[in-house]
Amino acid sequence: MEHELSHKVVIVNTGGTIAMNLDETTNSVQVGLSHPLRSIEAVLRRVASYEMVDLFNVPSPHMTPVMMHELSRVIRKYLEQPDVLGVVVTHGTDTLEETAYYLDLTIRGDKPVVITGAMRSSNELGADGPVNLVQSLRVAEHESSRGRGVLVVFNDEIHAARHVTKTHTSNVATFQSPSYGPVGIVTKKDISYHQPPDRVDVFEPQVPQAQVPVVKMVAGMDPKWLQFLFDPAIDGVVLEAFGAGNVSPPVLSVLRKLREKAIPVVMVSRCYNGYVQDIYGYEGGGKQLKDLGIVFCNGLNGQKARIRLMVLLAAGVPTDQFSNFF
Ligand code: ASP
Repeated sequence: MEHELSHKVVIVNTGGTIAMNLDETTNSVQVGLSHPLRSIEAVLRRVASYEMVDLFNVPSPHMTPVMMHELSRVIRKYLEQPDVLGVVVTHGTDTLEETAYYLDLTIRGDKPVVITGAMRSSNELGADGPVNLVQSLRVAEHESSRGRGVLVVFNDEIHAARHVTKTHTSNVATFQSPSYGPVGIVTKKDISYHQPPDRVDVFEPQVPQAQVPVVKMVAGMDPKWLQFLFDPAIDGVVLEAFGAGNVSPPVLSVLRKLREKAIPVVMVSRCYNGYVQDIYGYEGGGKQLKDLGIVFCNGLNGQKARIRLMVLLAAGVPTDQFSNFF
């Protein structure tokens, strides 16, 4: 689509490798004095009319749910403006999927919101930030990107925020959607979607302050390791269980105690493909977990199930209804 001069995309920078340089004296990647994306503005102008704003400049391990909430608020404000076609967020890749999903759960409307970043900093050979940003602008201003929820654009692919995850520590093709695949691709000349829009649900955004740890099951888990779940009190917990949704038997005592205190426990699998279901009847098997009132969650990994649980708690959804929301 040719961009209309009266309309613009807003680029909101939050930091990450896309905003960093490799310092050859220390051989470390760090934030420089000037934002590297400012030096490619002539290229960006040829792609779209845009306004660029710097909201944060942090590596994404420094992001918090409260900062995600602030980002969501800023984006919602921009999207209210009639001349804004959509928003592109630049972000570090480490926690990008959590921010993308938080935005997906809290931003209504059809206007595209795209999030991107880089695996290589701006002065490294083969830096991927500029091309990812150019492609994100093209996706954000494209008519067929409307109504698809938050999209993650990397390495010529378009992914749904709900399904995408970082799969590699350094490869530029790191973002993948296990089981689901990308929803579309960016070609030299066009944007092409091969999955229909499947936006699910959006909640009233409230500051996400709930204490929700993620606990990963490992063989031979000792309940003593999990005493931190009781002091100080938590608001909910996400369990990354074995396989189809099973735990080590000694962990059952911890889960019972959590449920007695009416603390919501949401279970995903530590496998990145497949479903959790109440299949097994042995000690610690899914049947027992279902009977304990543990909420089975499919289609989200542990870190995203945590974001969803925090959003539901902040929105005041009654905990006894959580099984309808996962
Ligand atoms: N550690 C970096 C970050 O998430 C990685 C990146 O941006 O690619 O900020």
